[in-house]
Amino acid sequence: MDVRVRYAPSPTGLQHIGGVRSALFNFFFARSQGGSFILRIEDTDQSRYDEESLRDLYETFAWLGIHWDEGPDVGGRFAPYVQSQRFALYQEHARRLIESGHAYECFCSEQRLERIRKIQTANKMAPGYDRHCRNLTEAEIAESRMQGIKPVVRFKVPLEGSTVLHDLLLGDIERKNEDVNPDPVLLKSDGFPTYHLANVIDDHLMEITHILRAQEWVPSGPLHVLLYEAFGWEPPIYCHLPMVMGADGQKLSKRHGSTAVREFREAGYLPEAIINYVSLLGWSYDDTREFFSREDLERLFTLERLNKAPAVFDYKKLDWFNGQYIRQKDAEALAQQLLPFLKNAGVLGDSPSPQQLALVRAAVPLVQERLRVLADAPSLLRFLFEEPASYNLEEVIPKKLDAPRTRAVLTSALPLLAGFKGRTDEESEELFRAKAEELGMKLGDLLMPVRVAVTGTRISPPLFASMRLLGIERVRARIERVINLLSNEVQTNG
Ligand code: GLU
Ligand code: ZN
Repeated sequence: MDVRVRYAPSPTGLQHIGGVRSALFNFFFARSQGGSFILRIEDTDQSRYDEESLRDLYETFAWLGIHWDEGPDVGGRFAPYVQSQRFALYQEHARRLIESGHAYECFCSEQRLERIRKIQTANKMAPGYDRHCRNLTEAEIAESRMQGIKPVVRFKVPLEGSTVLHDLLLGDIERKNEDVNPDPVLLKSDGFPTYHLANVIDDHLMEITHILRAQEWVPSGPLHVLLYEAFGWEPPIYCHLPMVMGADGQKLSKRHGSTAVREFREAGYLPEAIINYVSLLGWSYDDTREFFSREDLERLFTLERLNKAPAVFDYKKLDWFNGQYIRQKDAEALAQQLLPFLKNAGVLGDSPSPQQLALVRAAVPLVQERLRVLADAPSLLRFLFEEPASYNLEEVIPKKLDAPRTRAVLTSALPLLAGFKGRTDEESEELFRAKAEELGMKLGDLLMPVRVAVTGTRISPPLFASMRLLGIERVRARIERVINLLSNEVQTNG
């Protein structure tokens, strides 16, 4: 069998972790089986349509490097791949169901349906349509038509028996037909199909072989199986994917943190890290291996290794993966990826000079080991590109010292700078170590005021490499600036 799978998002919001997980599993399954991966846009619900979401969909998957074999943008033999362009098909199929006795027209008014709902709630009955129009006579139908009432088309759910959804992961899920939603709408009065009708028709017509989708769709499963039977079609193989939870065991949502992939991208997560980590949400290769490139997954992904248990989305673990992928990057590539973040934070202008670009490249080794996300870079590297706007003297002055002593320490550090030339960072540090000994103080207490003077903050990349990149003249000027500030401090306080 030629495997054909699809990702069928509704354009109702940004691509989130759960959706992307479904897309990745479908994509990797198709690749590992030599099959096809299809993108289909399920935009039948106009009330929830969100403009932005389609752009986000294409951007997100381009960024992840995931491509479909058939879809709205690339075409394919079952085009169009956008449901709003396929309405005639759904209408024709709904008519077919009416003719074969599996569906019927319902002329009930909104008021009538509202009345039923009220009665049901008052009597603590299960909600649902009362099947009033299921057995209308020809005359009644003609009468409603005469009045110009536009009917919806409802599915005739069998009143007896039960339906089994065979699920590759969850096993057989059996549902009594009397418990299936009584006669759901397939076609609305304006001719728009509902999700169930369009989804089933398209999966069949597009020759989809496997449905890998989130477990929240399990409740729709029996109804879909009944629709396949009514059409006389073979249902595809279902495989509902384990839920994705937050650390508290609740379904992953905004309450837990970012869930939109775009937000992760903007915060400086790498696509490699997202793909790797998201692929482990409900799937594993064996019990030990953690690192997988996209190419690995295209070869190794199997449905046999899906887990039944819900997956927990662990933000810390994603950070860890991201850090690992940042460390693995070659310096030039990482420099390129840092540029947009440095521009965004205003550290660099829109068109940086060749000197600035060279400085970014030279600075990569200083931060590569310590970045959690790319967006951490601007605050670590800003001091290389601009003078500190101001100094916080509380940060400059070590706990054990006061302003005069700190000023004296900084003053004694100045002559050491001349010795940096031709020395390695380690050798330069030796000069400071000797000075600290001579002053009878800890090296750290000598370095902290220097670090704050040079970088404007106590948390900086390695100090001696930072000073080398900044250049001795600018280092000297900054230390002198702080010495002056401390002198003022001493005068006002003394
Ligand atoms: N359009 C549905 C969604 O937004 C598709 C569900 C399915 O895969 O059948 O998730
Ligand atoms: Zn009705």
